[in-house]
Amino acid sequence: MGAQSGRPLPVEGHEAPNVVTATAFLKAFNDGRLQHVGKRVVVVGGGDTSIDVATVARRLGHIDQVHESDRPELAIGGHAAHDAALISRRQGAEVTLTSVFAVDKMQASRHEVEHALAEGIAIRGGMVPVKVVRDASGRATALRVARCEAKMVGGRLDIKTVDGTEEDIEADLIVSAIGQAVDFSGLESLNNGKGAVSADKNYQVAGQPGIFCGGDVIRPHLLTTAIGHGAIAAEGIDRHLRGEALDKRPKIDVHSFDLMRKMAEKGLPLTQIDEPLHGTDRSTGAVHNFENRSDRYVIPHDELFLGHFGYVPRNKRKVVTLNADEALANFEERLLPLVEAQAQAEAKRCMSCGLCFECDNCVVYCPQTAVFKVKKTQSTTGRYVDTDYTKCIGCHICHDVCPTGYIQMGLGE
Ligand SMILES: Cc1cc2nc3c(=O)[nH]c(=O)nc-3n(C[C@H](O)[C@H](O)[C@H](O)COP(=O)(O)OP(=O)(O)OC[C@H]3O[C@@H](n4cnc5c(N)ncnc54)[C@H](O)[C@@H]3O)c2cc1C
Ligand code: SF4
Ligand code: SF4
Repeated sequence: MGAQSGRPLPVEGHEAPNVVTATAFLKAFNDGRLQHVGKRVVVVGGGDTSIDVATVARRLGHIDQVHESDRPELAIGGHAAHDAALISRRQGAEVTLTSVFAVDKMQASRHEVEHALAEGIAIRGGMVPVKVVRDASGRATALRVARCEAKMVGGRLDIKTVDGTEEDIEADLIVSAIGQAVDFSGLESLNNGKGAVSADKNYQVAGQPGIFCGGDVIRPHLLTTAIGHGAIAAEGIDRHLRGEALDKRPKIDVHSFDLMRKMAEKGLPLTQIDEPLHGTDRSTGAVHNFENRSDRYVIPHDELFLGHFGYVPRNKRKVVTLNADEALANFEERLLPLVEAQAQAEAKRCMSCGLCFECDNCVVYCPQTAVFKVKKTQSTTGRYVDTDYTKCIGCHICHDVCPTGYIQMGLGE
């Protein structure tokens, strides 16, 4: 379901027609309805969403003669813009972004803040909205703000307003970008009472077996987070439909490779997996005669043989920085993609950390010829080499020469 509703400004006057939420603003823009904004736009926020709103507002600009039915708030409310609004000459909008935190403490990423400043957006840090000032018709004409000190205390935002510092920032459009909320209409039973959904480690809704969730309903975060939740929930759903108990999840949810899947891909009998996987040199199902650590272990860099990897600089994407004039009506990408050759070069910098990448070092350097290659018909990812423990003297050399940190020494404990 995501968290697609915006949170309205928690101040008097927020119900004015030209005070809107960031999600409504961005949806109207993405749907093509919002073609221009007012001359003066004030965005309240400080996170990445508020920067998105401010930079879109700056790009859209304003038109001088607005037909009553082309007002931005009507487009945001769902009306289609008239052609006149599309062809009128655009002029820049004066966009001000306010944040309760100082500019260098805002939640938005630093480079986003720098871009917004370069594009002519005024950022006023340490300002809290106290009231929406309205005219006789009820429209907002300004946002009243006061200086403040804000800090997070136990996960809650604590704002102390400085008395006597109130001022009005004139506005034709005010956008509230202070957070998102879940719309539970029709699905109220999923609400944990705090406007979110509570889930267990398998992303099953707490106390509701068979219902799984993920993404912003748990906590608004990133796309990659939602995708990760979805991957784990899919495993849980599969088990649930088979009537199996849900797995205890590992401490760290990483997916390097799945030995079982690799064995199946290779057509190797899965019965071997039932043999002891830990500390044996007899099991053909064990990884390097030992165990599959990939499902619960992220390898630290000091377990790699870094000397094996020369320094190769990153293939960084180019970033376009615009000034205030260039930003107007410019909806081109700012973060340019890598070309194919660059993307391949970047992928080649991968060190395959924690995985065997079949370099043969351990086979070559073992003084006892204890390490040997698994027969091609028996090998698969992670089962490329094998060790004969009757020959091994525990000298550590294979561990030291393994570039990726795949070999871990142990005494069978
Ligand atoms: C302005 C903004 C900028 C962002 N920028 C980034 C970024 O640069 N990088 C990044 O990683 N993340 C970014 N995010 C966060 C990212 O968009 C979310 O974390 C991610 O989209 C969450 O995925 P989701 O599947 O939980 O929800 P959503 O992507 O919101 O998808 C939920 C879907 O469920 C549908 N739905 C809702 N209710 C119902 C219902 N009752 N029945 C059926 N369907 C329903 C909705 O229509 C929607 O299609 C940004 C978010 C915002 C608001
Ligand atoms: S510890 Fe030494 S002897 Fe044993 S497999 Fe490794 S390199 Fe060979
Ligand atoms: S040295 Fe490491 S990466 Fe190379 S073959 Fe042996 S286990 Fe695999």
